[in-house]
Amino acid sequence: MKKLFLSGLIFLCCMFTTSCSQEPVDGTRFLFNTICTLTVYSEENPDESAEEIIEGAFDLCEEYENMFSRTIEGSDIDRINNSNGQPVEVSPDTADIIGEAVRYGEISGGAFDITTAPLSILWDFEGDAPSVPPAGEIEELLKTVDYTKIRVEGSTVTLEPPAKAIDLGAIAKGYITDRLVEYLTDNGVTSAIISLGGNIYAIGTSDGRPFRIGVQDPAGEGGAILGYVEISNKSVVTSGDYQRFFVQDGKVYHHILDPETGYPTDNGLASVTIISDRSTDGDALSTSCFVLGLEDGMELVNGIDGVEAIFVDHDGNMYFSDGFGTGMEFVQA
Ligand code: AMP
Ligand code: MG
Repeated sequence: MKKLFLSGLIFLCCMFTTSCSQEPVDGTRFLFNTICTLTVYSEENPDESAEEIIEGAFDLCEEYENMFSRTIEGSDIDRINNSNGQPVEVSPDTADIIGEAVRYGEISGGAFDITTAPLSILWDFEGDAPSVPPAGEIEELLKTVDYTKIRVEGSTVTLEPPAKAIDLGAIAKGYITDRLVEYLTDNGVTSAIISLGGNIYAIGTSDGRPFRIGVQDPAGEGGAILGYVEISNKSVVTSGDYQRFFVQDGKVYHHILDPETGYPTDNGLASVTIISDRSTDGDALSTSCFVLGLEDGMELVNGIDGVEAIFVDHDGNMYFSDGFGTGMEFVQA
């Protein structure tokens, strides 16, 4: 594990910087509760313009949002959460993503757990006036947190009691990013950036060189970046305690919950950034590692081929997985 000291309190998130001689075509929509941008630098499809391809990609995003959202009535997830333990027939994609989420529950030893949903609803981080819930209520809902109560058989999903509800917020943007990569490349796109909030994927290269994905200090003035990684056909995903939070009595309460306590994870980490081939893995692992903490999270990443990570703690230290220096570089700004 390599360690780099940086002064001050440093938060981490991703932004991309690039230069390209071709005129890029981009589109922006508010989806999944965040700003989503698709930028196409090069496409070789004689039938459809880049604008039409981008429209098609956003239509696909909406289809996924209508399946995966916990808050859209009639979505697959809404139907599962109202099933009272009965089997629910869902789309193949919903079965697939839930299967991935259960797998990450196992890989992370329960740090990643989509049945934390009732607790996220109780904490209400996205509400108008969130506050720390009564300890007794947290204790009560903790009994419903258990991803092993999710059964996926073909396209049938059963959520057995005491598990009550699931939320795919920690994995859906990564999964949808992977589907967008397939859609765009199938449509002849050879160079593009997908950005679904903190989830970024770079397709191809920029003028023959890898894309530079910046690592930003969001607490810094003017969006200054700490540095960047150079990637091609890879995903960069960040989970951080600054992305969704409220402050009560001077203490920050953020949206990534420790399934063991029911409270926001409090292990000294400010963010975890994962670089991987699949964005599903990046999204699930960034949340998993954020909950696991520096030591266990780094051990998990270093045990998976082709996945790298940058951890940042509240003291401003950055920690890099073993692949940095042997193939992957972090270039300081
Ligand atoms: P992310 O930004 O990808 O790290 O995901 C955070 C979101 O996932 C939260 O807003 C919750 O909806 C949900 N979540 C919170 N804690 C967990 C957890 N320990 N495991 C899985 N999902 C979680
Ligand atoms: Mg995630």
